[in-house]
Amino acid sequence: MILKELTKGLIGLVLPNNCLLCEKKINSGEVICEQCQNFERNLPPFCRKCGISISVDSKTRLCSRCRSKNFYFTRNLSPFLYKEPLASLIHLFKYQGFDFLADIFSQKLIEFIEELSIPVKNYDLLTSVPLHRRKLREREFNQSRLIAEKLSKYFLIPYKDTLKAKRYLKSQVNKSAKDRTLDIRDNFYIIEEIKEKNIILIDDVFTTGSTLSECAKALKNKGAKEILTITLAIRKLN
Ligand SMILES: [Zn+2]
Ligand SMILES: [Zn+2]
Repeated sequence: MILKELTKGLIGLVLPNNCLLCEKKINSGEVICEQCQNFERNLPPFCRKCGISISVDSKTRLCSRCRSKNFYFTRNLSPFLYKEPLASLIHLFKYQGFDFLADIFSQKLIEFIEELSIPVKNYDLLTSVPLHRRKLREREFNQSRLIAEKLSKYFLIPYKDTLKAKRYLKSQVNKSAKDRTLDIRDNFYIIEEIKEKNIILIDDVFTTGSTLSECAKALKNKGAKEILTITLAIRKLN
């Protein structure tokens, strides 16, 4: 923890007014320049399940991924594609302890929710994909929870931890979609009363959708009604 604090302090010393990513000069008090905040948008029309941008003429309004998969959440919405420079920023956020990025990310999500008039007020509570307690110790904070709590404050929807992870899973980054799905199966259980509730589930990245789907499955099995997942970025199909 001390090392991370020190690194952050050093960055502040060495680059007092420079963008965290491209090192371009910026006004003091800012951390990322405007250009590096210009994330690539995931534009409508969206797949009605995973929310990835699809071609207008798609009759089913489902992408190829969702035509062959049954996700347990009602639908997912993501404002950005998982590409640079956002991918690097998310990495700093998750693995380098740069928790202050939650401000930028939640602000972007708020703008997206308002732009699309997503009826978030119809939901009873916000929750986030949990980290296993060992992972939480390693990373110091749950990045998805930080974002969800900021949305909760802004939209005045209560935030609750509703899920817990059973197993400690090594990094999923280099695993195949199939292995990820197997790893994560039945990995979550419910720690909060959520019967009859409409829930917004927050995560940073929609990769294969397996984690979100497993969380939604656990919530649904305990009686939750609708599960809307909102993720900052979504990965395009290969
Ligand atoms: Zn920059
Ligand atoms: Zn889809």
